Amino acid sequence: MSSNTPDQSFYPKIEISLNKISHNTELVVRMCRRHGIRVVGVTKVCCGHISIANAMVDGGIDIIGDSRLENLKRLNEIRLPKLLLRLPMISQAGDVVEYADISLNSEIETIRALSEAAQLKNKTHEIILMFDLGDLREGIFTFDELFRVVEETLKLKRILITGIGTNLTCYGGVIPTKENLTRLVAHKKMIESNFDILLSIVSGGNSSSLHLLEENAMPDGINQLRLGESILLGYETAYRHRIKGTYDNCFRLITEIVEIKDKPSRPIGEIGLDAFGYTPQFAEKGIRKRAICAIGKQDIHPQDLVPEDKNITIIGSSSDHLILDITDCQSVYRIGSLISFNLTYGGILSSMTSEYVSKSFK
Ligand SMILES: *Cc1c(COP(=O)(O)O)cnc(C)c1O
Repeated sequence: MSSNTPDQSFYPKIEISLNKISHNTELVVRMCRRHGIRVVGVTKVCCGHISIANAMVDGGIDIIGDSRLENLKRLNEIRLPKLLLRLPMISQAGDVVEYADISLNSEIETIRALSEAAQLKNKTHEIILMFDLGDLREGIFTFDELFRVVEETLKLKRILITGIGTNLTCYGGVIPTKENLTRLVAHKKMIESNFDILLSIVSGGNSSSLHLLEENAMPDGINQLRLGESILLGYETAYRHRIKGTYDNCFRLITEIVEIKDKPSRPIGEIGLDAFGYTPQFAEKGIRKRAICAIGKQDIHPQDLVPEDKNITIIGSSSDHLILDITDCQSVYRIGSLISFNLTYGGILSSMTSEYVSKSFK
């Protein structure tokens, strides 16, 4: 996949500062360690890019986490345990056992398939059982079911239940609190005493759980967090607070101008549906100086771009063209000039995934 080839230089280009990523990682890891929490560095946003994973390793993460097996395969040479974040597909059970040391699970059928695969490979596969505290994405929903899954799993060979975990905010927007995470810790204790086993990990969520550390409200017993966005963009994601001392510009997208013309702000003619099936709306602002950059929705959605030049406004985009209003800019832009943007989480995800965007490391 071309997103993993080394430095090439064509535009659009995403410029990645590995030093800034290491710096952010160090800060976040230090914050977690103070509370006895180990950090899974999540690399899925950058397609499991090895250089970015190594920058996180330099920053002190304990485990590599990714939602896609393809990405974990790329990171195979890194000598840290690998955690598969998305529930495994039964069809991939063999590769899960091969490339992930640990996986997050909620279905006994899948755990049985992992057990079979692990026996064939003479490996022991660790699992963290996911419990849904109300966000309504993945996870076992009742204590009764958790109890039954543990009971069944303990009969299986080559599977070790290392812990329980939860995921919040990503889907339902539910914010991690002292109350809901305390429930998770309580479930862990009940499972331990009922089955006379030890669960070493309680995985308390993603970057949206970090605010609990800042407020000193993380329940005792939570000892792992799985962090992507907070490392790569420098904020916790429940209330979108910046984490003090982090960089928010580890990633910059640089695009090239292919047209500059003065045009009216509203299209001329009868308005039908745009290329994506929507009826576009246009405010009347008179004649404006518009620039077209060679990038489009195939690579990134316009709402995920934040121009570094604050006098630029984004008008919109189609599959391959990004249209900007540069009327108010102090800088002089010409055909072939470059325009840079900061990126949201979604922007990093999609432009790292696009093979039409080159990746350049600083
Ligand atoms: C993506 C993901 C994470 C990391 O989330 P961030 O918001 O990037 O910190 C953690 N856990 C699971 C299960 C995920 O899918």
